[in-house]
Amino acid sequence: MEDNYENLLDRGREKIKDLDAIEKDRFEIPDVETYQEGKTTILGNFLTIAKKFNREPEHLLKFLSDKLGTSGKRKGDKASFKGNFSKRQLNKRVEEYANNYVFCFECGSPDTRFVKIEGVKMLKCDACGARNSISSITK
Ligand SMILES: [Zn+2]
Repeated sequence: MEDNYENLLDRGREKIKDLDAIEKDRFEIPDVETYQEGKTTILGNFLTIAKKFNREPEHLLKFLSDKLGTSGKRKGDKASFKGNFSKRQLNKRVEEYANNYVFCFECGSPDTRFVKIEGVKMLKCDACGARNSISSITK
């Protein structure tokens, strides 16, 4: 009977490895850290979010400013927006950004990047190879 303790242990380890892989694959949109500073709203983990999305911080800033209908400025790791916005509003915009510019339209993978094909900016997925045109930010 080979089904001894060692074998069971190995099988257990195998299972844990599988779980780790799943954990790494699961991509979560970071929750915004925000506070008000006078008449401006500070997005404290701005750079962390941009890095997590693997996008240019300037692109994310432009999108957020545009969607919030205000002007935004980068302040080191943070971003500040003129006006008072709730955490919920900011979370919604960050989520919108991820849906428009991060997740693959075909398979939903966040493993994507911007490429330029014949002068057109597209979202290319490294997981399934799909390429989708993306809307440009107007402002
Ligand atoms: Zn894909």
